[in-house]
Amino acid sequence: MTTYVYDFASGDAGMRDLLGGKGANLAEMTRLGLPVPPGFTITTEACRHYLQSGGLPPELTDEVHEHLKAVESAMGRRLGDKDDPLLVSVRSGAKFSMPGMMDTVLNIGLNDESVVGLARQSGDDRFAADTYRRLIQMFAKTVQGLDPQPFDAAIDAIKAEAGAATESQLSTEHMWKLVDRFKDLVLTGTGKPFPQQPSEQLWQATEAVFRSWNSERAELYRRREGIASDLGTAVNIVAMVFGNLGEDSGTGVAFTRDPATGAQGIYGDYLTGAQGEDVVAGTHNTVALTELEKIDKASYDKLLAIMETLENHYRDVCDIEFTIERGTLWMLQTRVGKRTAAAAFTIASDLVDDGLISLDEAVGRVSGEQLSQLMFPTFDGENLPAPLVRGIPASPGAAVGTAVFSAERAIEKAQAGQDVILIRRETNPDDLGGMIAAAGILTARGGKTSHAAVVARGMGKTCVCGVEALQVLADHAITADGHTIREGDEISIDGSTGAVWAGRIDVCPSPVARYFTKELPADADRLIRAVDRLMRHADASSRLHVWANADTGADAERAREFGAVGIGLCRTEHMFLGERRQLVERLVLANEEGQKAVLDQLLELQRGDFTEILRAMDGLPVVIRLLDPPLHEFLPSIIDLSIAQATEPTTENEKLLTAVKRLHEHNPMLGLRGVRLGLVIKGLYEMQVSAIAQAALALKQEGLDPRPEIMIPLVADVTELHLSATSARAILNEHGVLAPVGTMIEVPRAALTAGDIATEADFFSFGTNDLTQMTWGFSRDDVEGSFFGKYQELGVFDTSPFATLDTSGVGQLVSQAVKAGRAAQPELHLGVCGEHGGDPESIQFFHAAGLDYVSCSPFRVPVARLAAGQAAL
Ligand code: ADP
Ligand code: MG
Ligand code: MG
Repeated sequence: MTTYVYDFASGDAGMRDLLGGKGANLAEMTRLGLPVPPGFTITTEACRHYLQSGGLPPELTDEVHEHLKAVESAMGRRLGDKDDPLLVSVRSGAKFSMPGMMDTVLNIGLNDESVVGLARQSGDDRFAADTYRRLIQMFAKTVQGLDPQPFDAAIDAIKAEAGAATESQLSTEHMWKLVDRFKDLVLTGTGKPFPQQPSEQLWQATEAVFRSWNSERAELYRRREGIASDLGTAVNIVAMVFGNLGEDSGTGVAFTRDPATGAQGIYGDYLTGAQGEDVVAGTHNTVALTELEKIDKASYDKLLAIMETLENHYRDVCDIEFTIERGTLWMLQTRVGKRTAAAAFTIASDLVDDGLISLDEAVGRVSGEQLSQLMFPTFDGENLPAPLVRGIPASPGAAVGTAVFSAERAIEKAQAGQDVILIRRETNPDDLGGMIAAAGILTARGGKTSHAAVVARGMGKTCVCGVEALQVLADHAITADGHTIREGDEISIDGSTGAVWAGRIDVCPSPVARYFTKELPADADRLIRAVDRLMRHADASSRLHVWANADTGADAERAREFGAVGIGLCRTEHMFLGERRQLVERLVLANEEGQKAVLDQLLELQRGDFTEILRAMDGLPVVIRLLDPPLHEFLPSIIDLSIAQATEPTTENEKLLTAVKRLHEHNPMLGLRGVRLGLVIKGLYEMQVSAIAQAALALKQEGLDPRPEIMIPLVADVTELHLSATSARAILNEHGVLAPVGTMIEVPRAALTAGDIATEADFFSFGTNDLTQMTWGFSRDDVEGSFFGKYQELGVFDTSPFATLDTSGVGQLVSQAVKAGRAAQPELHLGVCGEHGGDPESIQFFHAAGLDYVSCSPFRVPVARLAAGQAAL
């Protein structure tokens, strides 16, 4: 029989699949003997059952009652007891943390009778009323799906009536009034009175949490974070402890290190006389955690000791939710903390120094995504104007864009191609779509632990929060000095310093990028020292080499600076654009003799191109791909030519128009291109190979060490390669130049017949863009913007197969080609030059498939180096 419920005392941190992250860690803390209120977890399996069948598993009722009894006896209180009621929270918690995306209901178990008992037991009438109105408000919103706005309005109305600035100033009497108003709102909203049966509250809340797994915002968050949509959430039932029991009670959030910079110290927010929701929502003014030392030294010391225990136990930074009830500290949540990219690097390196983890583990603690974030441009620290206002730097980065004041507008404008900064008083989970669309997020309220800050950090999005000098209204914002920001105004925000400027501020290369280009030394600061340390270890550990795709000498130099040890793809098509288009026109139009003259001219030019790049990569391999795209890409469009011909007819244009019409293709990507061009257009590939050979010879004579490799694109059959490679090798021989000749594997047929093809090739380079395109049968240029979103929603794939290699389909072709190729030709050198060569997840696969190198764009080289190291560790 399946067990659907686990007591906190019987689980552990390893059971995240079943108990969710929150439940597994509550169990782990219980095991460690930390003060966790009694409770239990209903498994994700029960959730999956519910989502599939629409009902709870029948056995669940008995199991929950049994575990509830255990909690009741541990607390010495009974759920629904009118004299001394037990209250519980019903909390969501999935395997991967999805901050604020799903539901939680506190104070379950109160009703018109037991609230009286709670008041008597606690000796605090106001507290009982406050707790009851919180339950009704949360229950109405999350379980009954009522609009929260009238509830907020009711609070504002009571505050106005009482002349109170904050909720905490409301008297007992006002709290009771609020209870009555909330009950009325539930009655009008649902047509029924607020449910009085505690067990009914419990089951309804449980189902609501399960349902919230499929809420729109939770789905959106999962898509964005690449979390599978069929995991489901667990439900944690936890005995309530009360931070809203007056001045010696409170609630807070803490980090064992600064989640923004990784610095060691005491970080967090605390709020006296409140329940947890108030802190996270960013709607209340919290104080810094260090203030707690003055408020309640004993609890503060205990908290610090627990934080140390947790960090040593998890061997990583933890974030924590806690509540103090009348001087007693309770732990309500912990997890390995989300952190910024910079903090990830410094923390990983610090943990090695602290003896908590090994250097191998440290390399695994950072991600390629984080490294690439650190390489994004920043604002130029030295020449900045004075900011308009300043807030709390919550998630680093430099964001420039036009102001918008709602998530909807952010999405609209971003879809229209604009960079936007989303400005909100505070954000709530419904803003998620807008936060994803925005280049940066700016809020007036809330600290480093507010919803905006936590979500932005998780996404690596620039965020400044808690700008107190900013009043945010529905469609504009006003600073304390009277400056108004309207929708459409350009602003710039710096998530590392909290500065906000009106207008557009220029950006410059980031310090980490400057470290890679050696403009900054490896010990420039804490962060760079950490990056340098982990990169050196990744390089030392990796087996895959990292090469770059570069078409010009300048690109090649940059790639080399970033650590590329070869050029895996030098495209030659760019060399036929600009003024040289005319030569291509003539090549197409001329008779045989004329063509030879044109090719001679092109030869001169190409020799120069190749000399430049071979010089930049002296001593390192440069894979030069012979011309790949269809010729008509270099010719004027039919439409332009037809118009020109209609207005001013010339015989020259007439001929060109005829030629362009002749070359026109319905499916150019599947037409006359790649090796087919080389075989059909006499002299074209021969010219390119001669230019390469001559460039290499000339550089050798200068005493340099050029290492060209010749790559033939779009081969589908060994005969195509045989013909073109034989001709290329003959030309190389004539020049006395030794260079490998190989092919791209980018047509499914080439992958399937790789054993044959390998007999003619010195190397294979997997062109995974075309291979993905042709294997799936969809054109990258057309589909990514059109139906991929829908496909992700439908679960056809989680991420675009053009971004991360589709290992079960396209990957099979790669693996099989590697095997067959090596079997036919053990010396065969293997690489990949599609976009996937810079994607960490795909690199993991290429490592396992046994490739020799990956080639990616120069800016991705450091990311690929890190990923190659991680793959080997
Ligand atoms: P989220 O995942 O959105 O953080 P949680 O389930 O952690 O939601 O709960 C929301 C807030 O309520 C948190 O601040 C948490 O600490 C607090 N909370 C949850 N359960 C209890 C409880 N049993 N007693 C007191 N506070 C609680
Ligand atoms: Mg929480
Ligand atoms: Mg291709």
